[in-house]
Amino acid sequence: MKILVINCGSSSLKYQLIDMEGEKVLCKGNCERIGIPGSKITHKTADGYQVERDASFANHTEAFAMLVDMMTKGDGAVISDVKEINAVGHRVAHGADMFPHSCLVDEEVIAKIDSLSEIAPLHNPAHIQGIRAAQRIFGDIPQAVVFDTSFHHSMPSKAYMFAIPYNYYKEYHIRRYGFHGTSHRYVSKKCAEIMGRPIESLKIITCHLGNGSSITAVDGGRSVDTTMGFTPTGGLMMGTRSGDLDPSLVTFIAEKTGLHGNEFLRTFNEQSGLLGVSAISSDARDIEKAASLGNENAALAQNMLCYQIKKYIGSYAAVMNGVDAIVFTGGIGENSSTVRETVCQDMDYLGVKIDLEQNKKRGDFIDLTAEGAKTKVFVIATNEELMIARDTLALCGKMSQPAEG
Ligand code: AMP
Repeated sequence: MKILVINCGSSSLKYQLIDMEGEKVLCKGNCERIGIPGSKITHKTADGYQVERDASFANHTEAFAMLVDMMTKGDGAVISDVKEINAVGHRVAHGADMFPHSCLVDEEVIAKIDSLSEIAPLHNPAHIQGIRAAQRIFGDIPQAVVFDTSFHHSMPSKAYMFAIPYNYYKEYHIRRYGFHGTSHRYVSKKCAEIMGRPIESLKIITCHLGNGSSITAVDGGRSVDTTMGFTPTGGLMMGTRSGDLDPSLVTFIAEKTGLHGNEFLRTFNEQSGLLGVSAISSDARDIEKAASLGNENAALAQNMLCYQIKKYIGSYAAVMNGVDAIVFTGGIGENSSTVRETVCQDMDYLGVKIDLEQNKKRGDFIDLTAEGAKTKVFVIATNEELMIARDTLALCGKMSQPAEG
């Protein structure tokens, strides 16, 4: 069974074709600048073929047609006919409280995803464009949607409620939803497999640290708290996002600067975080380099990030009454030995001690745990696409089972 995994943005479309027999990625790529002059597609196959081609796609349907062309024709071909694709799995950013699980697409599901566009204006409309375009290109093969929010559905109300008038929750569904759920689910499951223990018996803290970052407390395989909130702006400071703030800042800054409405969103989403504090870059590599060369603001930004990660790890250990394993993933979590070392310093109260030699290594899996330390610390490369493909496969399996009764 071959599953096409799709992550649609408003002007981009990332894809992976996965053969579920052996869970092998046959090809992957990215269509960029959809509907904008200068569109291009990058396409890579498992055997090392790689091409970047200027293309003109006015919309997502044309981008799909192009990637099908890439997959079926010429040197980048990995299948001979589009009919070899059995199902499509879409990443969807916001499922709010409507989608506790991944599900197959039908008109009702599309309408529900659309109704959430108000709280996910950058993401959900683009996902719907992707689903519609896939329907046009692939006909009626099964399509599944896998939500960044679903894994956090298990949070108790004391973790997901904000301490504002209850009516806002009842009227407008304002609460913590959490994001990166597919990644937290993937790495926590992998962590349990590596430890050779049932996930139900484990307390795991998963740190997804990338351009966007979030940390989740996974108790017995269920998310019980997570740092991101109503939107992916909350929680930890990130590349350009502020993370949590004192709400009174908004009126104070408005009075001082005249900033209002969407300008705030732009400030807190695009001009804050590592970029805002360092005034250098949103990229952790640039920050690390500048800090090592003595730039004080870069050092401050890096220290703030590590401090916040440490603080959340401590609070989630408190929430779960302990921790068996801490997992680092995402671009920073998988690659920055400096961030990992700084975060894990002086954590002996939690039984955390990392092996500094191991911490220098690179790879999809690294056991950082120092000899004799009680709490495991792992680097586990995330794989959201595989998780989406697995969910899609499972949903297709259910579809083909005879109805009960
Ligand atoms: P992601 O959003 O998961 O792709 O992660 C992107 C972030 O990972 C950026 O801030 C990168 O600077 C960071 N990153 C990637 N490689 C490294 C590295 N070798 N050292 C430090 N940060 C890195």
